[in-house]
Amino acid sequence: MVGIIEPIVVVGAGHAGFQLASSLRQSGYDGPVALINNEPFLPYQRPPLSKAYLQGAGEPDTVLFRPDCFYAEQRIDLVSDQVASIDRTARKAIFASGNSLGYRHLVFATGARNRKLQLPNADNDDVLYLRSLADGETIRRRLDAARRVVVIGAGFIGLEFAATAADKGIEVDVVELAQRIMARVVSPLISAHFLARHEIAGCRIHCGRSVECIEAVDGRLQGVVLDDGRRLAADLVVVGIGVVPNVELALDAGLPSRQGIVVDEYLATADPHISAIGDCALFSSPRYEAPVRLESVANATDQAKCLAARLTGNPAPFDAVPWFWSDQGKDKLQIAGLNTGYDRVVVRVTEGARSHWYFAGATFLAVDAIDDPRAYMLGKRLLEAGRSPDPAALADPATDLKTLLR
Ligand code: NAP
Repeated sequence: MVGIIEPIVVVGAGHAGFQLASSLRQSGYDGPVALINNEPFLPYQRPPLSKAYLQGAGEPDTVLFRPDCFYAEQRIDLVSDQVASIDRTARKAIFASGNSLGYRHLVFATGARNRKLQLPNADNDDVLYLRSLADGETIRRRLDAARRVVVIGAGFIGLEFAATAADKGIEVDVVELAQRIMARVVSPLISAHFLARHEIAGCRIHCGRSVECIEAVDGRLQGVVLDDGRRLAADLVVVGIGVVPNVELALDAGLPSRQGIVVDEYLATADPHISAIGDCALFSSPRYEAPVRLESVANATDQAKCLAARLTGNPAPFDAVPWFWSDQGKDKLQIAGLNTGYDRVVVRVTEGARSHWYFAGATFLAVDAIDDPRAYMLGKRLLEAGRSPDPAALADPATDLKTLLR
């Protein structure tokens, strides 16, 4: 008698989950794959949601990774349900609907959810968040009628959204708790550069301030009051104050989870039949001393490809150089590496382009490039090669960056 082959079950159909299912097929895996999708849309791309999607009039179809037929062609069983628990002993995923599905390997690609504002009136209908395609649809519809928007949080979401709203002629105030914008990811010089660019575009940015309360009369939003007593009128508030990784399923299944589901450098959890990738995974890295959790599309995609290789017989430690990008108005920020622990920044300015190179002693850690794809690409290649460029040569605009790779 031939036994039933259980599927590889991928929990979550965001960038990490979709890429894993696709990469398994590209790597020649022929067994069943189930991709669990708890959203009302086919799997879609998130980056356009805070930019082009808000500008345009495109239908949700325009951001889908692939049309419906792709899943049938690739024999990827797209399951519309929510996993409620994992029975590790029986190797089963149990769904909210009451159904269950056995697995030969299970992958948490559960991502992260928005951190919520804890204030009176924060549940007002005019206070919105932006993460899902449904959020993007709602905000786009509401922006057509909005005249004044307050954005809470000056991270990637808040600033990308603010630039898009200002470009539509809407008055924009941005309130940020930290003393500078994007403080979590970039150096003070980059924060200052982008602050000036957003101000030129018409955004008013209030750093080192918090929102004390959201004002509404008869359910209608009036605006917000800052901790210094100032009132900012608004007919819409958009909140982007960070995310919380979705670790609860793993935690309830008894798997070690802290600020992420703990995985080793092969992206494996403590259970040999379970892995985790993307925003939800706290991974050990041959590149960094402390475990890392990254919130980026690039990391989700790279980890999915690495795991697909392991599950098809080609295991290798996950060692991709982290990279990020953010389009804010007309400016493109590209980041390669992590600048944690830097003690020196080398600034390189050439015509129309600027890049900041971070070092700890003589060791090159990361590059932030503004409208400078060459600097970004070269910095990434240096990091991949484990090489540290000469700071003096870097700072000299006459240096051809390519020579630094030789
Ligand atoms: P984020 O990058 O963590 O930024 C949130 C910002 O809000 C932080 O500067 C945070 O300051 C601040 N903040 C926290 N609480 C606040 C409060 N009560 N009032 C005012 N400011 C407050 O997160 P995000 O912008 O919400 O983005 C969500 C996720 O999507 C992130 O993972 C982000 O990387 C990802 N994303 C990525 C891109 C891209 O790669 N281009 C684009 C959009 C979104 P503290 O750090 O001091 O808490």
